[in-house]
Amino acid sequence: MNNRLYGNLIFELSHPGTCGYSLPANRFGNYNLPEEMRRATDAELPECDEMTVVRHYTNHSANNFGVNNGFYPLGSCTMKYNPVINEEVAAMPQFQNLHPLQPNSTCQGALEVYYNLQKSLCELTGLAEFTLNPCAGAHGELTGLMVIRSYHQSRGDHKRVKVIVPDSAHGTNPASAAVCGLEIVEVKSTANGLVDVESLKPLLGDDIAAMMMTNPNTLGLFESEIPEIAKLVHECGGLMYYDGANLNPMLGVSRPGDMGFDVMHINLHKTFSTPHGGGGPGSGPVGVRADLVDFLPKPKVEKLADGTFALVNDLQSGEYDVTRNHIGAYLGNFAVILRAYTYILTLGAENIKMVGPLATLNANYIKEMLKDVYELPIESVCKHEFVFDGLKDKSTEVSTMDVAKRLLDYGYHAPTIYFPLLFHQSLMIEPTENESKQTIDGFIGVMRKIAEEAATTPEVVKTAPHNAPITRVDDVRAAMHPVITYRMLANDTQE
Ligand SMILES: *Cc1c(COP(=O)(O)O)cnc(C)c1O
Repeated sequence: MNNRLYGNLIFELSHPGTCGYSLPANRFGNYNLPEEMRRATDAELPECDEMTVVRHYTNHSANNFGVNNGFYPLGSCTMKYNPVINEEVAAMPQFQNLHPLQPNSTCQGALEVYYNLQKSLCELTGLAEFTLNPCAGAHGELTGLMVIRSYHQSRGDHKRVKVIVPDSAHGTNPASAAVCGLEIVEVKSTANGLVDVESLKPLLGDDIAAMMMTNPNTLGLFESEIPEIAKLVHECGGLMYYDGANLNPMLGVSRPGDMGFDVMHINLHKTFSTPHGGGGPGSGPVGVRADLVDFLPKPKVEKLADGTFALVNDLQSGEYDVTRNHIGAYLGNFAVILRAYTYILTLGAENIKMVGPLATLNANYIKEMLKDVYELPIESVCKHEFVFDGLKDKSTEVSTMDVAKRLLDYGYHAPTIYFPLLFHQSLMIEPTENESKQTIDGFIGVMRKIAEEAATTPEVVKTAPHNAPITRVDDVRAAMHPVITYRMLANDTQE
């Protein structure tokens, strides 16, 4: 990329004395800041002309990789296409210029979007009510666990402090339980990658608050023992929590509420589109079955008898208000909510049923086309994603990291690697429902080519990427000794 011509940091482009702007003449007379409020030396800012600044940032933006540049099969994270119409709706000034505290009568359209999305999510999941307040998947987990804790406490059932989490779970599950002040109990998976019901039984008792399950789990497998597991957990007085971060394979196929789950969250940014690379923005609505509705955070959006919409805060005593104080301000990430609602409306009730089957078809097609050259540890029909355990040929010493780096040379984003932790060389692939057969065939071709290179010219793979703006980085050093500030040369010489 030609941004090396211009330097990598704006500070490196600085020429003392260069100015990229001019301030208008001071219209307010000569007012001097009091001495003690003035800095002694000038701030160390880069001094660049306007074109240099524009080119610098434009070139950097061109180095970014997103779904709009190329295939992005990042397992678990669901990097699906975010249709442009979503952005148009989210950018409408009527939505963008709202203030969260403006009167209900002046924001009926926004409240209707909230209300309709709450209802759509209920219909898609089989649960009674949703709150759209939480701002990420992990935030939804924490909210859901607080709902569960409030429920047990409202019954005087204070012994229930443990949460059962499968060993294949996303790291946020145990983390959220810990943040909620609950104890984590791990349950093992069978060799088939599913929750081991026999290992679960001895863990159950009157101290269990809930069991968290991801379905399809992080191996992309459908947890077929859910009815049995839900029965056992309910019999001991615990609640069933569904991690619906990746709900796309279930859309139109099955509903958590029908399977015996009491509480769940959905990642709107994964399941219903919204670009979320680099950590945001997100939205993690939480849904509950009918008798848990009172424990959801308030306020909520309701439709009144006269057909208008209102923010309702019907807390009387405040005793169930444990959740609200810990949840994000106002009503969550409205722009993500708008995109999700737009996505659902553009697909419509009929087409949304295609999401699950197409996501499943695409993943299984890739898996079947590659499993002779990549190690498939669990032979099974997957849902929207699956996991390889590195290359099949273990004699090459080419690791999953090398394969991932080599993919960058061919213009693909790497899959998720070294997660889940169940295998040493995990390579987790999720194509999403949006990709064409031609795109997927292109990816399969490149994955096969890399497997061939690993056998014939392994050095090429092990030293990849060769075509990327930055070649292989020392990621251990980057994690252990991150350099996150820039020190100006002038400053160095002072020391
Ligand atoms: C992404 C993900 C989460 C966490 O969602 P965030 O929005 O990143 O907090 C939780 N569980 C699963 C299975 C996920 O894939």
